[in-house]
Amino acid sequence: MAKYLVTGGAGFIGSHLVDALVAGGHTVIVLDDLSTGRHDNLRQHAGSTSVEFVLGSILNEALVDDVVRRVDVVLHFAAAVGVNLIVERPLESLATNIRGSEIVLEKCHKYGRKVLVASTSEIYGKNTSDALSEEDDRILGSPLKTRWSYSEAKAIEEVLAYAYYREKGLPTVIVRLFNTVGPRQVGHYGMVLPRLVDQALRNAPLTVYGTGQQTRCFCHVSDIVVAILGLVDSTESEGKVFNVGSRGEISIQGLAEKIRDITGSTSEIIYVPYDEAYEAGFEDMQRRRPDTTRISNLLGWAPTRDLDQIVADVAEDLRSRQIS
Ligand code: UDP
Repeated sequence: MAKYLVTGGAGFIGSHLVDALVAGGHTVIVLDDLSTGRHDNLRQHAGSTSVEFVLGSILNEALVDDVVRRVDVVLHFAAAVGVNLIVERPLESLATNIRGSEIVLEKCHKYGRKVLVASTSEIYGKNTSDALSEEDDRILGSPLKTRWSYSEAKAIEEVLAYAYYREKGLPTVIVRLFNTVGPRQVGHYGMVLPRLVDQALRNAPLTVYGTGQQTRCFCHVSDIVVAILGLVDSTESEGKVFNVGSRGEISIQGLAEKIRDITGSTSEIIYVPYDEAYEAGFEDMQRRRPDTTRISNLLGWAPTRDLDQIVADVAEDLRSRQIS
């Protein structure tokens, strides 16, 4: 049994990782500043000796030093995430995603700890290829469009992780997560699926941005967790980058209709221009679909839950939270 550090472990994906690690008999230190993470995501571990919660930022070098020193493996999921947050607070987001990640990697190198770094499909920017593979080009808009700063920051984080592997021999693994959804994800940082499900449950208008013809592929967080733990356990994954996500594609309009059907909602669908939804000149990705051959070849991994199950799961989670 090993001891893991999960940075961002009170967040949506991080907390699901903590659950799976504890279920596997491991112990975990969670480092989270609760900026978007929530204590409530870890309430099932209250009083448990398997999980130690440390409140703080990955920008706090002394704190990161201490927690990295005390573990065997690091899963780095702390980040400023969500398009809303990035557009509203770009400086803070850049500091967390670039300098914070550099501190985590520095400390992993200092203590020789294997580290898996969570990156994102935003890396590919506006590349609308039918199957984005890990080697594909990035197509980005102007750096002065705030949205792209997230892609830039995460790319620098990838470069740092890879350079630590190449130059210093640190075992690093990079995971590019495509749209990940499921229980505990909240809509107020912009993520479309929990936002629309929440709106549907309140019979409020479903806000589809732009034409709604843009597409995404949504993967259940429980499938993502299996992929991440499989990758960090493998030595073959070191020094490599992996796409992780679903290949099932749906338009946002199609998603809104599906959500309305599954929840039995009477909501109308309204179309909100991007300028109003985000900021003037906002650029969206029209499409984003992964090629997942690399992880499938290494681990035989493939998602197991379809979108109907995902929407039902998210709806149940939101209902239970509204009651509790
Ligand atoms: N979106 C939408 N309505 C919302 C929130 C988002 O139509 O209330 C759109 C958004 O413009 C994008 C897609 O849904 O085209 C996915 O957005 P999200 O922020 O969830 O993820 P990402 O853009 O990072 O794929």
